[in-house]
Amino acid sequence: MTVKELDNTYVAHTYGRVDLCIEKGCGATLYSDDNKKYIDFGSGIAVNTFGACDKVWIDTVTSQLSKIQHTSNYYYTKPCAYLAKMLCEKTGMKKVFFSNSGAESNECAIKCARKYGTDKNENKNVIITLKNSFHGRTITTLSATGQDSFHTNFTPFTEGFIHVEANNIDELKSTLNENVCAIMIEIVQGEGGVNVLNKDYLDEIEKITTENDILLIVDEVQTGNGRCGSLYAYMQFGLTPDIVSTAKGLAGGLPIGATMFNEKTKDVLIKGTHGSTFGGNPISCAGAISIIERLDKKFLNEVKEKSEYIKNKVSSFKGVKSISGLGLMIGIETEKEASDILQECLNNGLLVLTAKTKVRLLPPLNITYDEIDEGLKILKGVIEG
Ligand SMILES: *Cc1c(COP(=O)(O)O)cnc(C)c1O
Repeated sequence: MTVKELDNTYVAHTYGRVDLCIEKGCGATLYSDDNKKYIDFGSGIAVNTFGACDKVWIDTVTSQLSKIQHTSNYYYTKPCAYLAKMLCEKTGMKKVFFSNSGAESNECAIKCARKYGTDKNENKNVIITLKNSFHGRTITTLSATGQDSFHTNFTPFTEGFIHVEANNIDELKSTLNENVCAIMIEIVQGEGGVNVLNKDYLDEIEKITTENDILLIVDEVQTGNGRCGSLYAYMQFGLTPDIVSTAKGLAGGLPIGATMFNEKTKDVLIKGTHGSTFGGNPISCAGAISIIERLDKKFLNEVKEKSEYIKNKVSSFKGVKSISGLGLMIGIETEKEASDILQECLNNGLLVLTAKTKVRLLPPLNITYDEIDEGLKILKGVIEG
C-alpha cells in the first residue's frame, strides 16, 4: 500500500487531508515524497516558527536529546526552569505552567480562573468568551469555543460559559454579574477568520475586568511567540492580562503548551491542583528557548515589515476583496472560494490555509523575501486566474 492508502486505512478519519505527503524541507521550502517543491505559507498552522531544518533549533534540541529526554515532574530540569524565567522576564508575567498543547494551556487557564473565582464565592465560576472564537478540542475548551459547528454530537458540555458577539461591548456588559470570574479572548481570532479585535473594545474589556475583579485571559495559542510582530499580540494593545495561554509556535515544532500567570494569579493553582506527565518536557523546553531567545526587537520588526510587504502586494491582486490580520497572520477575502484557492495553490507548489471563508497565510517568521516572492507569484496567478 502507498503511504496515502495506509493512512486512509489505519489513521482515524478526523482530518480532511489534501493530496500531499511532505518528506523534508528547509526554511519555508518543503519537498514532497515524490520530490516536488512547495513554498510553505502555513508552517504547520503557525507551529514551525523558524521553518524546517533551522540549525540553531536543531543543535539545541539534539544536544538536549543526547542528555535526557524526559524525567517526570518529580525532578527539576534546566530547560523547564530557564524557559519559565525567560518567558516571565520578557512578558512581566510571574509564573508559568507547562503542558503539551493549546487546548491544555486553555484548560489550565480555565481551572485557574475557576479556582480564583470560587475561592471568593462558590458560584463565581462563569467565563465569558466570544462568538467565532476557537479555544481547543477537549470538551471544556469546546464549551469555551463560540462556534456552534463544533458542538454537535458532543453534549453534555462543561457548564459555565457564555458566548457574546465580538466587538460589541454592550452585549458583554449586559451579561456581567457577580458569578463571572473571567473573560477569555483571542486578540486575533484565528480559526474564526483572522479577525483582529478593535482596540477600543479591548480597552473596555480591560477596564471591566479590573473594576469588577474579573480575570482577563488572553488565548495566544496562535497569535503568540512573534507571530503578530510582537512577542505576544496583547503587547501591541497595551493590555495587562491576568493569564496568557500559548502553544503552537512556542517550541518551533515540538509539542508544548504554556499558561502564564501574573501577580494576581501566580499562586492560585497550588500543589496537587494541576499537573501533566509530559508538561515541561526538556526537549520541548529546550526547543522553545532557542525560539524565544531569538524573538528580539530587530527580528520582530522584520516580521512587521514582511507583513506590510505581503499585504501591499496581495491588495493589488485582482479578485481580493479585503485583507485582515496582524503580523504574519494574514486573512484574505477573495471572490473565488477559499477552498478552491487552497487546492489550486497546492497544484502549483504553494501551501496556504483557510479560516472560515478566507485564505489564511501563516508563513514561518524567518521566511526569506525570495520565498515570499515565489509564493506570492503563485498566489497571484491562482487568485486572479
Ligand atoms: C490551535 C488553537 C488552539 C488549540 O490548540 P491545540 O494545540 O490544537 O490543542 C486553541 N486556541 C487557539 C487560539 C488556537 O489557534
